[in-house]
Amino acid sequence: MKRFVKAYLINSSIRRKLTSLIMLTCGVVLLSTTVVFTVKEAVSLIGEQNRNLTSLADILSKNVTSAIIFNDPQSALETMNSLSVKTDILAAYILNNDATIFSSYIARGAKPASLPLPQLLSSATPNATQNVVMHISLLWQGSDQVNLTRPIILDGKTVGTVGLIADMSKLRTHLLSTVLVTLIILCLAAIATYFLSLRLQEIISEPILNLSDAMRRVSESKDFSLRVVKPGNDEIGSLYDGFNEMLHEIEERNLVLQQRQEHLQELAHFDVLTRLPNRVLFRDRLQQAMNLAVRKDQQIAVLFLDLDRFKDINDTLGHSIGDMLLQQVANRMGLVMRDCDTVARLGGDEFTIFIQDIKSAENACMVAQKLLDLFEIPYCLDGQQVYISNSIGITLFPADSGNIDELLMNADIAMYRAKADGKNTYRLYNSEMSQQGTDRVALQSDLRSAVDQKQLRLLYQPKFDTLSGRIIGVEALIRWQHPERGLIPPDLFIPLAEESGSIFAITEWVLNTACLQAKFWHDAGYIGITMAVNISAVSLKRKNVVAMVQQALINTGLPPGLLELELTESMLIENNLMAEETLRVLKDLGISIAIDDFGTGYSSLSYLHRFPIDSLKIDRSFVWNMNRTSNDLAIVVAIIAMAHSLKLQVIAEGVETEEQLETLKTCGCEIIQGYLLSKPVGAEELNALLKMG
Ligand code: C2E
Ligand code: MG
Ligand code: MG
Repeated sequence: MKRFVKAYLINSSIRRKLTSLIMLTCGVVLLSTTVVFTVKEAVSLIGEQNRNLTSLADILSKNVTSAIIFNDPQSALETMNSLSVKTDILAAYILNNDATIFSSYIARGAKPASLPLPQLLSSATPNATQNVVMHISLLWQGSDQVNLTRPIILDGKTVGTVGLIADMSKLRTHLLSTVLVTLIILCLAAIATYFLSLRLQEIISEPILNLSDAMRRVSESKDFSLRVVKPGNDEIGSLYDGFNEMLHEIEERNLVLQQRQEHLQELAHFDVLTRLPNRVLFRDRLQQAMNLAVRKDQQIAVLFLDLDRFKDINDTLGHSIGDMLLQQVANRMGLVMRDCDTVARLGGDEFTIFIQDIKSAENACMVAQKLLDLFEIPYCLDGQQVYISNSIGITLFPADSGNIDELLMNADIAMYRAKADGKNTYRLYNSEMSQQGTDRVALQSDLRSAVDQKQLRLLYQPKFDTLSGRIIGVEALIRWQHPERGLIPPDLFIPLAEESGSIFAITEWVLNTACLQAKFWHDAGYIGITMAVNISAVSLKRKNVVAMVQQALINTGLPPGLLELELTESMLIENNLMAEETLRVLKDLGISIAIDDFGTGYSSLSYLHRFPIDSLKIDRSFVWNMNRTSNDLAIVVAIIAMAHSLKLQVIAEGVETEEQLETLKTCGCEIIQGYLLSKPVGAEELNALLKMG
């Protein structure tokens, strides 16, 4: 039973619990009040009845004393007849001391046989008084009559007894009606309490039910922005506050989670620096575009764009400027592309683009040209103006391939062809390029081991003094003796070495080998023969180029004054600050600096003042055309004059004819280098030349 009640209480709704509680409390209170009230009422009624009967008996005993003394029962009866007004008195007796009836009065309507006379007589012993004969229990015992006896005393002596028999039915009826009324009131109160409890439980349970409803809605909709309005400042109010706080916290956590998720998503699909799609997203979009193109029978152009000489900018101006450039490039590209085209950054300075629904290869070329034109305007990077170009490779879907990897590879190959063809241009892929592309990759990989495998060798081309005709120095020119491909000229493999980074090992090897050879000639007695070494742009950018040179000098013991480094104009312009500093250090070591291929580069002569240069090497193209076009002769004359005014030596390279030699002599060029006098030769052959003087 207890368990059942407990289970009922636990499982029933709050409304029911509250109603039950209120009803129970009120029931207990009302019931106990009714019981107490009824008992009190009964006790008071019986008490009053007792008192009335006692005082009646007392009066009667006084009034009948003389009748007993004078033995006049009739007089006693007459006295008792006055009791007829008391409707509840059924009978009255005057008893002698021996318990015999002296006189009796029976009320009209009372049946003498039904009167409890024997009980009265038995209780009327002399000197015994029965003051209170009525007791509350009589009411429930069903007895309607009650006895009362009082002694009749005269001068302290009992002369008889008055006995009264009273009717209790009226009293009981009165009491019962009181109980009935109370019960009716109790029922009414219970009904009122029930309705009141309904309202009361509503006040308490409604906010709780509202809260639980809100919880359900939140859990169903997962909308944590929902808030509940606090019903008041009680405990339920705090519950609402707690609920709202909890939702707020969940919402904030969700927001952070969502942001993190978005960030992750962005990291996974977008390039952090330029905010362009990355390789993953590019491939995904391209695949979708390809699927669509197949259905609609359209063409897609895939472009591979690589910035020219981006590494130079990164190395000389710093990575943050490099990053800035990439961002600006990305922004500019966005200007010429349509919304449906995708520009992505694959990494480094490589960008890929695909253009949907391209009508012909010419259209793709037009877009590529637009992209090239974009780069004609200089970029402003941290206050510096920087010119940069790019090379673009183009391939077409589905004509060139139906596979993303192949398309990207084709575009990459075409881009390399654009670079090889002089950069700042675009090339459309064709299948022949693939063969060359694989060649390039294979060569690069072979090049890595070329130094270790001793496949490199140096040739030396002498430089002659125009006046004396004597060899005053040599230029070291590298050759690669490839085991399968034979002798590979530097123009073919130096760019590859620069790209792959093997140029550093190569430069180091050239410096050491050339210095050793120069030291050998120096020691052999050919005093003052200088050794010129070509330094590639990439090597110059390496901070340790000075250390590399120094080490070569230490290793070989060559006097620094006999070493000359040949740099191109563009290297100085592009590397500006760093080149200036590096050259100063080298110059301080006693090394000479020559500008190679002079005249082909920027034709900006202003930098000549700034750099510690010793000589200019007029590019061979001017020398070759000098006697054919007056323009080139004018340039040669101007270069020589200017170099002299700057106190620089002039070397003419590529001199092939006597005519060229004569003109150069006339113009005042002091040093000559070219096939006319000697091709680049091995050390042994040069030995012989030196010997000849
Ligand atoms: P460069 O420094 O301007 O070298 C001169 C080039 O002109 C050499 O070509 C030389 O053989 C060639 N030459 C000299 N006289 C004549 C001539 O009368 N007629 C013609 N037609 N050509 C002549 P080479 O050896 O093929 O070198 C090409 C370029 O490769 C060099 O141009 C230089 O920039 C680079 N190079 C050569 N060796 C090295 C090296 O060790 N390191 C680096 N970084 N670059 C090198
Ligand atoms: Mg050179
Ligand atoms: Mg040259």
